[in-house]
Amino acid sequence: MTSKPVVLCLSGLDPSGGAGIQADIEAISYQGCHPTAVITALTVQDTRNVQHFECVDAQLILRQARTVLNDMKVNAIKIGMLGSVAIADAIHCLLREYPQIPVILDPILAAGGGSSLSTSHLIDAINKLILPYTFITTPNTIEARRLAACAETIDRQLVIECIAQTGVKHILLTGTHASTQEVEHHLYRGSEHLQSFQYQRLPGEYHGSGCTLAASLAAFIARQTEIVQASQQALDYTYQSLTHAHAPGTGQLVPDRSFRAEP
Ligand code: PLP
Repeated sequence: MTSKPVVLCLSGLDPSGGAGIQADIEAISYQGCHPTAVITALTVQDTRNVQHFECVDAQLILRQARTVLNDMKVNAIKIGMLGSVAIADAIHCLLREYPQIPVILDPILAAGGGSSLSTSHLIDAINKLILPYTFITTPNTIEARRLAACAETIDRQLVIECIAQTGVKHILLTGTHASTQEVEHHLYRGSEHLQSFQYQRLPGEYHGSGCTLAASLAAFIARQTEIVQASQQALDYTYQSLTHAHAPGTGQLVPDRSFRAEP
């Protein structure tokens, strides 16, 4: 019997289907891996913004994740919305039990519509409890500055050095929120710059683009793709899903993560 690489996802539920666990499941399935899903938080949101969220009990999250990990060989762990310090703490315990599984962290601090999904205590917990166990994190420029507690004027390399000090192995800094004409993403090993990636800037606003990137990256890492190539392939897939985006609601566009590749 053949088996697919398994990705354990710890993410929030977005009922609009744009971001969160649904984005993970779609992107990971598209890349030929088996997604397993542990929900960290339930949100009330549409394609415009998050109105409210409630965290799942941290011990229940831990029991679900341990049950999956006892049953399957998990090849990568993808972490999205954490929701609370208690959940970060529980996931920290889990990561310490499985140090050999690569962790891909999308540091979700706010919704695209602006609502905060984090507190300063949660940012501290991400820095101290999660990033030291993380193989690669995918902050945008705003998230990177908040993780590093840096002002907007501080230069990019210093921001990266601050984040690298947590012990995280790689950082894929995404450039959608920067004011450059083209979108430039930068991959680092620790604070060493490895590669930049350029894409044409697309006109729309998208719901779940960060989730799509981190989840597809988790799938490539689960398949043991080398880090520069994994980043390139995940960025290409995300870009394609954005160019195929559709408008199911009245707000941001939703990436089409099951688009048919052009022949
Ligand atoms: N996960 C959940 C559950 C969310 O609600 C959001 C944003 O609202 C995100 C992730 C991040 O979405 P994006 O990929 O658009 O940054």
